[in-house]
Order: sequence, then structure tokens, then C-alpha cells
Amino acid sequence: MQVYDVVIIGAGHNGLTCAAYLGMAGLKVKVVERRPIVGGAAVTEEFWPGFRNSVAAYTVSLLSAKIIADLRLAEHGLKLVERRAQNFVPSPDGRYLLAGEGRTERHIANFSPADAQRYGAFNRALDSSADLLRELALQAPPNLVRGFKIAAIGELIKAARLGNRLRRLSTENLRTLYDLFTTSAGDFLDGWFEGDLVKAWLGFDAIVGNYASPYTPGTAYVLLHHAFGEVNGKKRAWGHAIGGMGAITQAMARAAAGHGAEIETRAPVREVLLEKGRAAGVVLADGRVIRAAAVAANVNPKLLYTAMVPPSALDPDFLRRIRGWRCGSGTFRINVALSELPSFTALPGRDLADHHTAGIILAPSLGYMDRAYCDARTLGWSREPIVELVIPSTLDDTLAPPGAHVASLFCQHVAPQLPDGAAWSDHRERVADLMIETVDRYAPGFKASVIGRQALSPFDLEEMFGLTGGDIFHGALSLDQLFWARPALGYADYRGPLQGLYHCGSGAHPGGGVSGAPGHNAARAIIADRRRRLWPT
Ligand SMILES: Cc1cc2nc3c(=O)[nH]c(=O)nc-3n(C[C@H](O)[C@H](O)[C@H](O)COP(=O)(O)OP(=O)(O)OC[C@H]3O[C@@H](n4cnc5c(N)ncnc54)[C@H](O)[C@@H]3O)c2cc1C
Repeated sequence: MQVYDVVIIGAGHNGLTCAAYLGMAGLKVKVVERRPIVGGAAVTEEFWPGFRNSVAAYTVSLLSAKIIADLRLAEHGLKLVERRAQNFVPSPDGRYLLAGEGRTERHIANFSPADAQRYGAFNRALDSSADLLRELALQAPPNLVRGFKIAAIGELIKAARLGNRLRRLSTENLRTLYDLFTTSAGDFLDGWFEGDLVKAWLGFDAIVGNYASPYTPGTAYVLLHHAFGEVNGKKRAWGHAIGGMGAITQAMARAAAGHGAEIETRAPVREVLLEKGRAAGVVLADGRVIRAAAVAANVNPKLLYTAMVPPSALDPDFLRRIRGWRCGSGTFRINVALSELPSFTALPGRDLADHHTAGIILAPSLGYMDRAYCDARTLGWSREPIVELVIPSTLDDTLAPPGAHVASLFCQHVAPQLPDGAAWSDHRERVADLMIETVDRYAPGFKASVIGRQALSPFDLEEMFGLTGGDIFHGALSLDQLFWARPALGYADYRGPLQGLYHCGSGAHPGGGVSGAPGHNAARAIIADRRRRLWPT
């Protein structure tokens, strides 16, 4: 007897989004989550007595406006606010760039009038590709179907539609799109600008969660991936969810529960239950069996197919490919409780000002980022790391006691696995000191203002959030792992190789980030299969 139509492994924001859409379609859904709270990498937690923060993902942009509306997230308590300035990039020579509505060009012109003149054209070019990606994010990519099958015709039509959409781009915009998919962010940005700081500002997005030099081919796509978002209708803006990223997933959980989904926390899945080669539910670590007509996995595909499904159930070629799925961000994450706001040498003052609300990027050139990557490859971390500092309490008084603040340090590059088998637990605090000292170099006194901290190495990100290799995207966003190849050629339509097993997490198109898109698209595939009566009843 099926108790549920669908059981979802993991209550990350994509699992919750999928649950809400399935519930809306009338399906009976159960979500099982290993942690004590829902949200996956999008959660708010008390990391130090009296101080709460978005402890992993910390800033919002990619979350689809359609999903916000469909799930009525605002009615479920979600409020997104914009930063007063988008980014602040101080330079060691005491100058700085402050980017944001109405001021970016003026600041770029302080370094290069020629760059300021090109900025408008650059924006239009990037917008054209970002607009396309925004559209594609909420659709299954054309899937590779072998042989002459009805499904193949549908996929050919989808491919033709995509081709037609590309035809509508001007030649110039098509070239930009091609560059963004194939070149390095460094080469792409060097082709537009001459100033180090403007290129560092824009190039930072290309190495976020991406263990690569900005001069590694393919990194330009990661820059584009961070550009398809919006905040309250403002394209490419980044903002803050009042209450932290957990406010997004709490609202999603309420939406899903409102449509009948049952969500159980502290319920780790041990394996997918298989019957006659098809997914028939899950077995929890405590031995309980939850039967369902279909299973949707919110976890990294490598975790799903190497830990939750026996190898004998999978085609050896598929298993070989999944074992080769590249996961591993060069990301180190620190949450700090602060007694006061930082005062930057480049823009002194501890009273709240626009730049304190921005994403503060401490990496003054693409060359600096390249060196950070090379260091991490040989030493395990960068002697001069890349740090983005975000102080959400400047926009949200629910996170820290009055007068105090919380900040997120999002640091790149560290090696997901340290050289010579060294353990992250032996080096975590030393590397956290290095990151905090890096901020202190730009804002003297920062180190002394740290009341408490939580440091998370790639190993800790895997332990705490189940992120294989600490990969924040559930798999590298490289051309061989994108679109029709995410997570593998032939399985890009959210349907895995086993009947009744679906992919609803960031390991499916369009990949990582708090977008909700994989959960939305997977729900569509599941609902379609149910309507076509492809399931046992
Ligand atoms: C440090 C960090 C910073 C980031 N910063 C940002 C940012 O600022 N903005 C942004 O948009 N994105 C950011 N990201 C990326 C983004 O958070 C992720 O890509 C996204 O949250 C992934 O969502 P998901 O629902 O696909 O998977 P996840 O959030 O990984 O959810 C998967 C869920 O499955 C659960 N699970 C794992 N194993 C089991 C099991 N055996 N049984 C049951 N449940 C299980 C996990 O506990 C988890 O809840 C960041 C990520 C990290 C780690």
C-alpha cells in the first residue's frame, strides 16, 4: 500500500519548493530531513549566544520571482530588502569602488574614465545573456533521448524552441553569450575593462564556490550564473531576507505544509527502497520504511547514487560518470559576532553608512584571485585569501543585540581536501584567524571587535549540511556539468535512471544557489508523469 505519492529526501529549499508545488497539484507528500531544522544551506541559526545569522548561504538574488509569487512566500512572512549599496571594494592603496544604483559609473571613472564609458554597454551585454538564463532556469533543458521514441520528438521540439530563442539575440549578444559559456572570466573582463578594481568586483562572482582561477576557461559562466537574479524586481541586485536565509525556507515550509506536505526533521535516509528496479520509498537510518509511488532526491547526485542506491541497481557506465561528478568548492565560511561596525582605511567611520550594507569584497585584482587559487592548490589555503564580508544586521535588527552586529565572511580559496591527507579539524581555527586578519588589514580594529565566531571549513560544510566535498552548488558549474549534462547526459529532465526516482536539488538544472528552480522544474516532471499514469497506484 502506498502511503504517499512522493517522498522527498532532504528539506533544502529545493526539496521544500518541490513539496509545495506537488502539494498544490493534490499529491500527498512526505519530506524527510536529516538535520533538526529545515532549509539545508539556507538557514538562520544562533551561532553564538544572542547572535543569529544565515550560517551558510547569506545573500539573496537568484530566488525566482515566480516561485515567490506561486508559493505566496510574502504571505508566509518573507520580506526581502535591498542593500543601500551593492558592493564596496576597498583597495590596499586607500582608494575604493562603491557600486550601486546611480553611483557605479562615477566610482569606476575615478579609476578609468574609459571603463566608466564602457560600463553601460557591458551591462546591456550581460543583461541580455542573464535575461535568457532567467527564462531557461525555469524550464527543463532539452534532454538527450536515444532511439526513435515519442519522448525524442518532444525533446527535439524543445531544442528547436531554444534555437529559435537564440536566433532572436543580436549577433553581438550571441557572441557575448558564447564567450560567457566558453571563456574565462579573466579573459572576458580583460576584453571590456582596464582597471583592476572594477575587474575584481565583477570577477568575484566567477570564483564564488568555484574552485578555480578567474583565468580558468569556463569561469565566465559562473559570473553569468550569479547575474540571473533580482531583488523586488531589480535585476542582478543582491539583497537580504529579514530574519536571514532561514526566513526563506521557513516560509517555504509553511507553504508546503499549507498544501498538505508532511515534513519530518531528524529523519536521515539510509537508502532508497527499490522494488522490481523502481523506487518505492525510502528506508530511514532508524530502520523505518516510508513507502511512496515516487522518490525525489534533494541531495547531491553523487551522494544519492554512491551512498543511497546499491551499485548493482545502476548501469555501470552511469555509475562511473556519477563517481566522476566533480564536487568541491574552495569555500571557507565564518560567522562572527561583532561589538561594533568596522572602520575601513579607505572609507573610515564606524557609524552605519551605505558601504556597511554592501557586499564588501576584499580582493583587489584578478591577479590576486589567481594567486589565491594557486596557493590553495599547493598549500591548502591562500596566503592572501579572497573574502567577502556581509553585515546583515545593518539591514535587519532581528539578528544581533542592540548596538552589536553579525557578519558573514565568505572566503575563497581553500582546498576542499587538504594536501598530504591533513585534516581540516587541525587547521580550521588557524585558517579562520588568517581570514579575520585579512579583514583587519583593510579595517584595523576588526579583529578586536570579534566577540565570538563559528568557522566552517569545506569538511564542516559537508558534515553539517551534507554538501559533498563542501560543494555549495552540489557539483561544479562547468560546461560538462550544465544544462543537458546536469547531472548526466540523458538525465537532465529531473528523471533518474531508475523508474520513479527524480532529482529535485541543485545537482539538476540550473544548478546551485538559492533559486528554487530545480525544485520547481522537478515538480513539473513528477506531476506530468503522474498525469501520464507512469506510476503504480
Ligand atoms: C557557505 C555557503 C554559502 C552560500 N552562499 C549563497 C548565497 O549567499 N546565495 C545563494 O543564492 N546561494 C548561496 N549558496 C548556495 C546555496 O545555498 C545552495 O546551492 C542551495 O542552498 C542548495 O539548495 P538545495 O535545496 O538544492 O540543497 P541543500 O540546501 O543542500 O539541501 C539538501 C538537504 O538534504 C539534506 N540531507 C542530506 N542527506 C540527507 C539524508 N541522508 N537524509 C535526509 N536528508 C538529507 C540536507 O541536510 C539538506 O537539508 C551558499 C552555499 C554555502 C554552503
